[in-house]
This record gives sequence, C-alpha cells and structure tokens, in this order.
Amino acid sequence: MPKKPKKTTEEKVIEDYFPLDEEDAEHATEKQVKETIPDFKQIVEKEYKKPERSSLERVEKIPKIKIKKSKATRKVKYSPKKIKLKKGGYELIVTEKPQAASKIASALGNPKRKDSKGISYYELERKGKKIIVACAVGHLFTLKQNIPGSEIPIFEISWIPNYLARKKDFTKKYYDTLLKLAKDSGSITIATDYDIEGEVIGLNVVRFICGQKDAKRMKFSTLTTQELNKAYDEKSPHIDWGQAIAGETRHYLDWFYGINLSRALMNAIKTTGRFKIMSIGRVQGPALNLIVQKEKDIQKFKPEPYWQVFITVDDERPRGRSIASTELRAESGAGKNKLELKYNQDIFDKSKLEKFENIVGKTAIAETKKTEQVLPPNPPFNLTTLQTEAYKFYGLTPSRTLQIAQSLYLGGLISYPRTSSQKLPESIGYKEILKKLAKEYNVEKLITKKKPVEGKKLDSAHPSIYPTGNKQILAGDDEKIYNLITKRFLSLFCDSAIIDNKKVSAVLDELIFSARGASVRKKAWMEIYPTKLKEIEIPDLKGEVKITNSKTEQKETQPPKRYSPASIISQLEKKNLGTKATRSSILETLYNRNYVKGKSIEATPLGISLITTLEKYSPIIINEKLTRNFENEMEAIQNISNKKNKQFHEDKSTTAQKGGSEPLGEHLGGNNQVRLQVAKLKEKEKKVIDKAKQTIISIAKDFGKNEKKIGEELLKATNELRQQQKIENTLMRCPVCKKGNLGIMYSRKTKRHFIACDAYPDCTNTYSLPPRGVIKKTNKVCEECGFPMLMRLLRGRRPWVFCFNPKCKTNEEWAKKREKKEEKENEQD
Ligand SMILES: [Zn+2]
Ligand SMILES: [Zn+2]
Repeated sequence: MPKKPKKTTEEKVIEDYFPLDEEDAEHATEKQVKETIPDFKQIVEKEYKKPERSSLERVEKIPKIKIKKSKATRKVKYSPKKIKLKKGGYELIVTEKPQAASKIASALGNPKRKDSKGISYYELERKGKKIIVACAVGHLFTLKQNIPGSEIPIFEISWIPNYLARKKDFTKKYYDTLLKLAKDSGSITIATDYDIEGEVIGLNVVRFICGQKDAKRMKFSTLTTQELNKAYDEKSPHIDWGQAIAGETRHYLDWFYGINLSRALMNAIKTTGRFKIMSIGRVQGPALNLIVQKEKDIQKFKPEPYWQVFITVDDERPRGRSIASTELRAESGAGKNKLELKYNQDIFDKSKLEKFENIVGKTAIAETKKTEQVLPPNPPFNLTTLQTEAYKFYGLTPSRTLQIAQSLYLGGLISYPRTSSQKLPESIGYKEILKKLAKEYNVEKLITKKKPVEGKKLDSAHPSIYPTGNKQILAGDDEKIYNLITKRFLSLFCDSAIIDNKKVSAVLDELIFSARGASVRKKAWMEIYPTKLKEIEIPDLKGEVKITNSKTEQKETQPPKRYSPASIISQLEKKNLGTKATRSSILETLYNRNYVKGKSIEATPLGISLITTLEKYSPIIINEKLTRNFENEMEAIQNISNKKNKQFHEDKSTTAQKGGSEPLGEHLGGNNQVRLQVAKLKEKEKKVIDKAKQTIISIAKDFGKNEKKIGEELLKATNELRQQQKIENTLMRCPVCKKGNLGIMYSRKTKRHFIACDAYPDCTNTYSLPPRGVIKKTNKVCEECGFPMLMRLLRGRRPWVFCFNPKCKTNEEWAKKREKKEEKENEQD
C-alpha cells in the first residue's frame, strides 16, 4: 500500500513548488489547446486503491450496469399554461442572454433593475410606454420522446421545458420569471440573437410560456445603443417564421439521428455482453468520414524517393553591361553576383541524374524576369475565416474563437459573429467606426478608400464581423481576437499591396534552372493586418554565368497532410456540411468520443473502425450527399422569409418599410398572408422530417440485420484504442522496481491525475502532478535528471513544461526560491 503521509508531502512539493514559469513556457512545443481537445479523456484510467485490472476498464461488463431506466425514458406530461395578454399591459421584450437584456434595456431607456427569484429583469419607460426586458438563458425547452422505451426507431417526440427533462435544471428560474412577466404583459417582442437558434428560442417562449401564436421581432447585428434603438423602432410585426421553422426542423432531425443512431450503436455493443456509450450524429458521421478517409490515404501512402538538383552560378561579366545589375552592384558594392538555382523538375528516375554530371565549370545563359503582383486586402471576416486566422496566428481552436467572439459581441464590441457574410453594407455606419478606430490605431494615413473591399459570400441575416467602435479594456485572448477583427476591418479600406516578383533562370543546353525572389514594394494594408509573406532577395542575372557548384538532394514524397481544427472546419463549410454555428462543436464531439485526437487531427482506431463498420453495414449514415441535401432543404426553408425581408447585406432600411410599427395583434388570425406563409413552411418542414424518418428506418433495418457483427467490430476497436492509449501514456521504466512502467493515471477518488508504476501492487512508486489542467507527454527529456518532461495545459495560461521528478535539481531550485519567498513573507507577518 502506498503510504499516505508520503504522498501528501509529495503533493505539497508539486503544488507549492511548481509555479508557472514564463521562461519554461517558451520551450513548450505546443500551444495551449485545451478546451476543445480534452486529452485527459485519452488517459488510461486506473483506480488508485484497487489493483484489479478489470475494475479499471472503461468497457464494463453489462449485467450490473444495464441502461438505466432514467429520466430519458420516463413519461413526462407537459401542457403549457394558457395566458391571455392584458389590454394596456406592458411590452415584454425577451432576449437570449442576461447580458443582452441589460444592454437592450439601457439602450431603450433608463431602466430599473428588478429581481424575481434571483433572476434580473429590467423595467423602463419609453415615450410614456412601460417596457420590461427579460431574458431566456439560451434554450428553455428541449425535445423529448413522448412514451418511455429504448427501442428504435423512435419518432414520437415533443418540446418540454428543460426542468422537466432534467432534475434541478438551472433554467427553471428563468422559465418562471418569464411566465410571471408574461401574465401581465400586453404585447411580446422577441429580441434573441437573429439566427435560427435564436428564433427557435423565441418561438418556444412565445408559444409555450406566453401562449401566443406570434410576436414582434427586433432584428440587430450589434448590441450598440444606436442599432438597438433602430431595431426597436423598426421591429417586424412577426417573428421570422422561415428561421423559426428551419431551426425547429434542424432540432427534430438532430434528435432523430442522434438518439436513434446512438441507440443502434449501443444496442450492437450490448450484443457482445459489454456496454459503452457511443454516438454518431447527422453531420458527425460525414465529418468523421472525411478525417478517416484522410487517415486511410496516409496509411496507404508509400513514400517515393526523388531528387532535386541545385547549381550555384557566378555572374562574372564585366561591369556595366546591364543597367539593372549595375545598379544592384553599385548598391551592394560587390563585384559579382552569386545565386543558387534549382533544376525545374523533380527527378524520379535516378538514371536521369547523369545529365548533371560534369556541369560545374560550364557556362549557362541567365535571364531575369520581373513581374508586379497587386495584392488587395482580404475580404471581411465571417466566422470561418476568423476561426482560420485565429488558429493560424494564435493557435486558438475554432470553438474557443467562437466563444471569445460571442463574448465580444455580448459586450457590444463587435457585430454578431455567427455569420457567413463577407459583405459590409454602408448602412452599418462604417464611416464613423472607421474614423474612430483609424485614429485609435494610428493608421489614418493608410486609409485611402471610402468603400471597403468585400467578398462574395452572403448571409441573409447579418453582415460580416466588424468592430462597433465601442471601447473596453481587454486582455489575453479576448484582446487578440478583438485586435485581429479590428485590424482586418481597417485593412479593408487600404490600398492594395504591391509585391515585386523576380524569377531568375539559367539555361544550359536543354536544362533549365531557376530561382524566385519576392519583395514588398508597397505594404499598404499589410502594415495594419498581420501577414506571413516571406521576402527573398535575389540578384538580377543576365547573359553568361558560370556554374561554380552543383549538388543533388535526395528527398521523399510526403503523405497527404492531416486536417487541423481550422482546415477541417473550412472543409466542412466548403462541402456545406453543418452550419457555421455548429461546425466547431461537431469537431469537439469527435474529440470527446475519442474518434479523433491531436492538433493535427488523427483518426483513432475507434474512429477508423466506426467508419469502416458503418461503410460496410449502413453506409447511409456517412453519406455526405444526403446530409448536404438536408442542409440545403433547411436553408431553403430559412430563406423563404428572409427573401421577403430584403436581406441585411443589401440595405437594412428596407426591412423598416416592411416592418413598420402599425399595431398588430399577437395572433395570426388577423393576418392571412402570414398564416399562409407559415402553413407553407410547416408543409416543407413535414416533408424534410418525413424524409429523415425514412432514412432512419432504413438505418435501423441495416442494424437489425447485422447487429452482432457491428457490435463485435466496435468492441474490438475499443480494445485497440485502449491499448494504444496505454502505450501513449507510458512515460518510462520505473526507476524503483525497474520492472514496471510509469504512466499517467487518474484517481477517481481524489479526482486527480498522478503518475504510478503499472507493477502495482508489487511496486507502489507514485509521483504527484499539478492539480489543475491537462497533463501531456512531450518528446523532451529533462537535462538534469533524464526524466521525460511533461507539459501542463491550463486555460488562460501558457503551456508549462516541467520535470515530474521531485528529487530533480530543477525542482530543488524552485523549492529554494519558494522557501525564501515564504521566509520573507513570514518576516513581514
Ligand atoms: Zn515500479
Ligand atoms: Zn529533472
């Protein structure tokens, strides 16, 4: 048995003497990527106190576990309260997030903050009218099956409040507050985020909490006072039905796929007598397939040798024959120019190398071609390009970038980030913003254009991502993302950059060699927006040159590159799989399920096997085309009403003309046109849902036929994955018993990771690890003691590489430093 006191001392050492050291962080090989890449899930679990290996397995024997007859299968009854709006009652504005409620209330008047069960809402007067602004907190409702049971396929589902679906759900208070406020209200206005999710949140509040068939709708892209006032004055008399129904359809589809397919997979594993949580979603399947196909290409890849030939030439002509080179010589002060050039082709047939023998000393004829390249600024950011650039410059994962952008939006600093638009319409008032920010960033001289550069992509609901011009002190990643967005915005108004490209070639008989150079003549927008352009200076060469040297390099063809978190998201966008709002969370799910791993995304044995098995027995699940067709149909539903709304990116003022502020009842009864439109949309919704049901029925049939085989293949893959993880987490031979191996373990009891010898219980050697963050293996070895170095990743901190050997000199120094510090502190006390 490990001695407890000893361990606590160790723990203390680690905790006290492993402070974050910035210098160490500099040696880190990887950027902090946690959050979305939960590597800790890949760590082989080991119960600290129990030596029985069987109890450590994640794949557990079935009899005791069984799928719990939990809330998921309990019958829940829900019928929304009937509410009549009061004549002369106040206007209730419903927002998506608490922060948005506060922003909207302050923009529209001078609000008083009120409280109900600890939930804030705001009361204000505007032009003699009473308004109350309250918030939902994201979704207050969820889809749930009507009758208990775990058979597949299942399609009988309905919306119920979260608090009925999950015990002690925190959204209950928000539900109650809205219900209380709705009872005394005279009209309802929805002011959730203007996108499909926001519309579904609003629709459910309207129909289930407020008992209404329709509501007014405020549409906005930024939470600035000016825009919120405009959005209030010009609100639409109806919710955006296209968005609402497209959103609802999406929820139905995702539920049908998610629940039915996960059950199918788990039932298949159950046939082997085991239990394991597995899932695959509507978009997850095709997304994982992309990664797995890449993995298969890499595995299939056979590297081929090839050769590259380089020569060095000297320009030994007398001075003054070429103006360009004379100038250059005058500048550099050198008498002759030297340059290395590469043979134009890669050589795969080794015998062809003969041609290059004995060329040293020969004379070739050189030529210099110059071209000018005009590089306009890159188009405005949409979510995907922002995510890609944030990953490129700062290593931030797409979901982290979205999270940051969302908080900047709620802070009123940038426009709505869940957009695919690359347009920047004048109606957003960019002139004022530009003036303000150009001054702040001290780049007024570079702003030369009145209109910004734009890209091709449209979004029916929002313009591209831009800064609002509001100011707030930011730090860390927030500041980085904000600056990137602002610099991108500023760069749109700058001149194109001009690059001087140069190609020098040298010809010897039929052999052509060349070298390329590039230099930036005019930086323009590049002075504002960070760019990675490599400048290469090469001399001008013309006429006869002497070959003074030659060399041959052997290389190997490289396998296809794996996806990065940013490139897979771009790829999904290109293939129209998923939506801008969901792509990053789909990727996260793939990591969480252990289907993929690493920053350079690698499919795990489990991921590969899942796809291979599905390919064999139920290929519909990973059918990209089918998924895309569903996306297109849902987009079509969404765009029906947006077309009428005369899209944001063209001109927002047209919505105003249509919306107006004429009083309109909350019921659809009075408006035939809208009723007709909703009926049409509902019909389309039904068509898509029916098609999804058919798909799932045939998937269920596929599984029914091959359940046992599918289960066996998946189980085999799970075991392989565990084996692989175990190997990956092995650090070194145990220095105490010299028989076992040290590996990172997890203690369920202390909920902490630690290092232990796998010869336990024969060897009880353990080492403590820092209590917080994710611990990863590095390929570095401690220079002092030879132990493998570990890296800790912690959100908001830079990665920290450390030696886990408490007796190591590196840790001694820390210990001393710490001691001194404590002494000092004690003296002060
Ligand atoms: Zn040992
Ligand atoms: Zn060490």
